[in-house]
Amino acid sequence: MEWANDLTQLAGIMTASVAELPGYLVDTSKRIYWGYLLGALLLAIPVYLRLGHAFARHVSSHPAASCQSDKRGICAPSRPKMQEEQGAQGANQYSGVSGFFRFVFPRAVYLSASARMDYQLLVVNKLLKGLLFAPLVLTMVPVAMGVSDALSWLLGDIAPLSPHVVVVMTTFTALLFILDDATRFVLHWLLHKVPVLWAFHRVHHSADVLTPLTIYRTHPLESYLYACRMGLAQGIAVGLGYFLFGPALKMYDVLGANLVVFLFNVLGANLRHSHIWLPWGDKLEGWFISPAQHQIHHSVAPEHRDTNLGSALALWDRLAGSLIKSSQVVPFSQRGGHRVDDRVDGNHAAVPGAAYMPLPIGVGGYPGHDSLCGVYLNPLRDAMMILSRKGRIWPQYLLLRLRQRMARRQPDSD
Ligand SMILES: [Zn+2]
Ligand SMILES: [Zn+2]
Repeated sequence: MEWANDLTQLAGIMTASVAELPGYLVDTSKRIYWGYLLGALLLAIPVYLRLGHAFARHVSSHPAASCQSDKRGICAPSRPKMQEEQGAQGANQYSGVSGFFRFVFPRAVYLSASARMDYQLLVVNKLLKGLLFAPLVLTMVPVAMGVSDALSWLLGDIAPLSPHVVVVMTTFTALLFILDDATRFVLHWLLHKVPVLWAFHRVHHSADVLTPLTIYRTHPLESYLYACRMGLAQGIAVGLGYFLFGPALKMYDVLGANLVVFLFNVLGANLRHSHIWLPWGDKLEGWFISPAQHQIHHSVAPEHRDTNLGSALALWDRLAGSLIKSSQVVPFSQRGGHRVDDRVDGNHAAVPGAAYMPLPIGVGGYPGHDSLCGVYLNPLRDAMMILSRKGRIWPQYLLLRLRQRMARRQPDSD
């Protein structure tokens, strides 16, 4: 009955994996830590206050704002009579505190097919992570030891650069943050620029509405790459820090999270994946990626493709020539009635506040991501096709090579 034991073990691992999910809300290393969500909610208040009157007007003239998505994920408007009633009530319904919460959590976004797929992926990816690749992820310790040993071998052992705790902590905190942010940019850049990797990353870009959980809308292969990236970045920082300062390494942290990362996350990181348009102004956006700039990264407009690939620092995008500031965006409404597809257009029109967010979100040209099977298998199929076009791994190619080799050997055997 070994198989029964194996099954019980497997079920145990799966249950333990999913049971960890609620813990994300109290874990500062996770984007949906309650403090970061609260920070985003507080930052949404000034946006709502700025747009309040216009928002209520938009709702009263676009009653579809309270619609529900149909099976295809298209926001279906209600019947004309209902629309009239909803329109009349709209301005009242969407004012005050309850109006604020309707503005922040519109049903058209949070109950849409796209958002429901995000919720499913959060759970299923967590299961797969525990089962498939958790033991294979690159971890920090071997990388740190390798880096430290390599530096000692190359440069010889050196005395600690500074005995001052403040210097050590400041340098190490900055090193960790910069390496983490730089490696995020490099991996994200590769995910966009390498066709095989883009086949997987476009799962994230197939979202046609954004919610804080869209950050978990990824293919497991992408999650695996990001997990390895984290081990690599932390390993290099710790190895380098150990070589420069010795074993007394410490960083400034808030409940275990790097102080700089904590500040960035608490200052509205969750608005990056939301319909709430929060630019930071030209000056600040030249240094840090604002929530609006990441929304531009998700825009359907062709000129926004592969832009704002950074996480926190805008420096990497500036160096790569891929930075766009929010003030450079031409509002979608001024583009002469350009349409994307029914689903994206429908959702955009229905989202309260989307009238003030100049861009529809989601890449409508990437169908096949509206079922779990599609999300998991289509990228694999596309990646295989890309690789086969390059003549790398497709079975026919291997057969062809075998035949060619056999044909070359023929004369020798004669
Ligand atoms: Zn991207
Ligand atoms: Zn994103």
